[in-house]
Amino acid sequence: MNPTLFHHPHGVTAVDTEYLHPGHAASHIIQDAGRAAFVDVGTNYSVPYLLAALQKLGVAREAVDYVFLTHVHLDHAGGAGRLVQELPNARAVLHPRGAPHMIDPEKLIAGSKVVYGEERFHRLYGELVPIPAARVQVAQDGERYRLGRRELELIHTPGHALHHFAVVDTAHASIFPGDTFGISYREMDSSRGAFITPTTTPTQFDPAQLIASIDRMAGYKPEAMYLMHFSRVVDVPRLAAVLKAQINEFVRFAERHADAQDRYAAIRADMLELWLNLAREHGAPLSDTQITELLQNDLDLNTQGLIVWLDRRKRS
Ligand SMILES: [Zn+2]
Repeated sequence: MNPTLFHHPHGVTAVDTEYLHPGHAASHIIQDAGRAAFVDVGTNYSVPYLLAALQKLGVAREAVDYVFLTHVHLDHAGGAGRLVQELPNARAVLHPRGAPHMIDPEKLIAGSKVVYGEERFHRLYGELVPIPAARVQVAQDGERYRLGRRELELIHTPGHALHHFAVVDTAHASIFPGDTFGISYREMDSSRGAFITPTTTPTQFDPAQLIASIDRMAGYKPEAMYLMHFSRVVDVPRLAAVLKAQINEFVRFAERHADAQDRYAAIRADMLELWLNLAREHGAPLSDTQITELLQNDLDLNTQGLIVWLDRRKRS
C-alpha cells in the first residue's frame, strides 16, 4: 500500500483516498505537537491508504484524537466506521444532524442506493460499519477543539448539505470546508490559478444557504482552503465570487427548465456549456473532451441535486 501524499504548510498533509480516480478526493491529516486529526476520510476502500499515510508520517494510531467528518456523504465519511476501529483514542466528530446517520447508517445506505443504484453502491462503498455512539461527539456551531497546541473551530455551513460543518484553523489562516467551498481539480489549474465549481449534490442543496456559508467562511479571510476535491486552493476571495456567480447561474438553469419535458438533459447541457466557456476563459490546459470527461460525475450529481431542489421548492 503506497499512499500518495501532498505536504502543505502548517502540519497539513493531503492523502489521496483513491476514490473514482487519483486526484479526485483527498483526506487531510492535521498534525500538531505530536497529536493528529483527520478531516474527512473517504470510503471503506480508502482506509488502508489512510493507515499507511499515518505510518509514512510517523504518526502512531494512538496519537489520532479526532476524525472530523464535515458531512455524511459517503465519499467523505463512508470509511469512518472502519477507520475509527483502528484508532483507539479517536472520536468521530459530527454535526448534530449527521451523527445519528453514522451511528445507525441504515437510512444513509438506502438514500445513497437511490442516487447510485445497488450495484454501483457496493462497488464504490462496500459495507458501511456503524460508529459506536460512545465514540461519536456532536459539534455545535462555533465549538472549539484542541489539537496539540492549536485550536480548531467548527462552524455549521449548510447549503451543500444541511448537516455540514467546516473546520476553521484561524491561527494558520486555513479552512477545511468539506464540500461547501466547491470542487477544484488540480488538472484544471492554469496561470490564473484554480478553476472551481460548486457542488449541488442531492438531496439537501439550498442555494441561499450555500451562498451564506461561502460568505461566512470567506469572512475569516483564510489564506488557503483544503477541499476534499481536491486539496489546497488559495486566492479565496476570487474563488468565493466565482462560486457564488455559478450558484446563481445554476438556479437560473433550473428555473428555466423547471417544466421542460427532459429537465435533466436540459439543465445538464446548460451547466456543461457554462463550464466549458469558463474553462476556456480560465485557460485550463485540457481539451473540451477531457474537461467533459473529468467533470462528468459532477455534472450528473449537480443536475440531480438541482432537480431535487426544484421539487422540494414546489412542495413547500
Ligand atoms: Zn458532499
